[in-house]
Amino acid sequence: MSGLDEFEDELETCFGTSCGLCERGCPVYQTLYTRTLSMKGRNRTMLGLLKGKFDITPSVIEAAFECTLCGNCDRWCALKNTDHTMALREHLLKHGVEPMKEHSSLLASLKNYGNPWFQPRSARSKWMRGLDIPRASPGKQEVLFFAGCTSAVMKPLVPSLVASAKLLKRAGVDFAVMAQDEPCCGSTLLRVGQTDEFEKLEKDNFDKFKALGIKKIVTSCPGCYTTLRRSAERLGEDIEVVHITQEVADLIRSGDLKVQRSSEKMTYHDPCHLGRLGGIFDEPRDIMKAVSEFVEMGNNCYESRCCGAGAGLQSAFPKLSRELATRRIEEAKGTGATTLVTCCPFCETQLRTVPGINVTDLMELLLEASSNGG
Ligand code: SF4
Ligand code: SF4
Repeated sequence: MSGLDEFEDELETCFGTSCGLCERGCPVYQTLYTRTLSMKGRNRTMLGLLKGKFDITPSVIEAAFECTLCGNCDRWCALKNTDHTMALREHLLKHGVEPMKEHSSLLASLKNYGNPWFQPRSARSKWMRGLDIPRASPGKQEVLFFAGCTSAVMKPLVPSLVASAKLLKRAGVDFAVMAQDEPCCGSTLLRVGQTDEFEKLEKDNFDKFKALGIKKIVTSCPGCYTTLRRSAERLGEDIEVVHITQEVADLIRSGDLKVQRSSEKMTYHDPCHLGRLGGIFDEPRDIMKAVSEFVEMGNNCYESRCCGAGAGLQSAFPKLSRELATRRIEEAKGTGATTLVTCCPFCETQLRTVPGINVTDLMELLLEASSNGG
């Protein structure tokens, strides 16, 4: 992990360039038009802190946290801007700034319950009741289906996990789950700047996966996907991490999963962690085309707009967060689609808060379209 000083050259480059290209697709800037909240402004703030020209003030703290870490600014710039923002959050916490009060409660829950939602560990295995899925045990399986904290404990999201597990079973994939022993991937810690805590957690997690003999992790949540994949790379672990959309798109291609296409017009929202930050654009679209009459929104793939739920924005800045969701829903409605499909528990929950279009999960949709027994 990096401190602010590691990025000093990049911050100087931004200051010298000041091109402002990062402002084009920034959902926060394009909603509030506040320069200190764009990446250009935030980079200047960081440079000022490094050079001792600024003190840590409430507006510096706001600039650090009023960002969804959606990565759109990285799309337009050679600098590692989202890493800068995460380093700024870490810098503030290391200089005695308490986490935002809304984030403190998430962190307290993680510490006490192993998930950010104040749910007992036993709640994590409720989703799999009646599904006859083996529990991971040392040396017994190579593939782990990683449910993730949010989908496992939030009732409206459970159908997505159930659909994923049924699809894997239908296609004959030999997999197991960790049930109540499944740890948090640590994404929340990382996004709010708790880097030291995160590094301890990622090491413990991979020790657990190795002890079980896991060779491949299939995640349901895009945030778990990018976090675990980067942890595996950073730690040099020989464990493949894939998202469920990659796994099932392969199963459709190989003929192990058979699907029927409907004539309903549907559009797809790229979760930031899966698309721009994870580089997975094709597989969800392959699935969409296999099951529906697929139409794109104007802002898609790298240009996709954040739903507004990310990086603690939803809890700390709910009004702005909802405005971002409203804009995305309007864009989806503009395609003429009757259904907006996504594959992230945060995007799904967030987009469902705005009426106007049916929002559904890609795995649930695929299960309905899948025809080979099970
Ligand atoms: S962050 Fe990048 S795109 Fe934005 S002003 Fe700086 S150099 Fe330009
Ligand atoms: S990560 Fe997204 S919200 Fe944050 S500054 Fe970049 S474009 Fe704006």
